Amino acid sequence: MATPIGNLGDISPRALAVLAGASLIACEDTRVTGKLLHYFNISTRMMPYHDHNAARVRPALIARALAEPVALVSDAGTPLISDPGCKLVAEARAAGVTIVTIPGPSAVIAALSIAGLPTDRFLFAGFLPAKAGARAAAIAELAAVPATLAFYESGPRLAATLAALREGLGDRPAAVGRELTKRHEEMVTGSLSTLAARWADTPPKGELVVIVGPPLPAAAPEAGDIDSALTEALATMRVKEAARHVAERLGLPKSEVYARALALKATLGDG
Ligand code: SAM
Repeated sequence: MATPIGNLGDISPRALAVLAGASLIACEDTRVTGKLLHYFNISTRMMPYHDHNAARVRPALIARALAEPVALVSDAGTPLISDPGCKLVAEARAAGVTIVTIPGPSAVIAALSIAGLPTDRFLFAGFLPAKAGARAAAIAELAAVPATLAFYESGPRLAATLAALREGLGDRPAAVGRELTKRHEEMVTGSLSTLAARWADTPPKGELVVIVGPPLPAAAPEAGDIDSALTEALATMRVKEAARHVAERLGLPKSEVYARALALKATLGDG
C-alpha cells in the first residue's frame, strides 16, 4: 500500500478503495495515517507497526491477514523503501497470505525521473551512515558500481555527504531533489563539488534525495603512458604479444597499439 510522498492528490482511487475495504491498517504512525484517512473519510481501524513493536505484533497481524484484508501503510511514499515491512511481507508470504502491491509514489523514483541522469541502471543505497568513517567505507563500496546511485539524506548532513561522495567517487554529475511533489519542490543539478559548496554554510530545509551519475569514463591514456607500457612489455615479449598485452591493459584498439609497438621496436632496435 502506497501513500503520497507529499501531495494527497497523488494517491490513487485504487489505494483509497483498498484502505476503505481493509479490516485493519498497519501503519508506522497512527497520527500520520489518521490524517490521510480523515481527509478521505475512511474509518478503517489502524494498528501501529514500526521498528519498536514489529517483532511483538507481527504474528497477530499475519494471523489476521490470513482471515481478512490487512493493509500496510508507511508515513510517506512506498512501504519497505527505507521503511518498515520487509519481515512482515516475508513472513506473511511464507504463512500463505496473498500479498498485492498498490504502487504509488516513492521519493527515489520521483527524483530519478527528473534528475536528468541515466536511469537505465541505478542503485538505491538508502541513507548513508552518519559517521564519517563508516560513510566513507560505504561510499568506497559503491565507487565501481556501473550505475547511477541514489541516496536519501537529511538537510543538516547534505553538504558533508556531498563532499564525501565527491571524495570517494570523483566529481561526478549529480542532482539533489528537495520536497518533491510539495509546494517548495526543487531539483538542483551540478557537479558534486558545486552542490557541496552550495549548501556548505546553509543546510536546506525539507526532505531530500541525492542522485549521483555513473562512474566517469577513464581518461584516455596519453601517448607517453602507451610508450612506456610498450617499452616495458617489449623487453620480455614479442611485438604482437606486447601489443595485445598493452592494448588489453589500457583498453585501446589492438591495431593502434600494434602499429605503435612496431615503430617503437624499430627505434629500440636502432638504438
Ligand atoms: N518510503 C519512502 C519512499 O518511498 O519514498 C521513504 C521513506 S524514508 C524513511 C524518508 C526519506 O525519503 C526522507 O528522509 C527523504 O530523504 C526521502 N523523501 C521522502 N519524501 C520526500 C520528498 N517529498 N522529497 C524528497 N525526498 C523525500
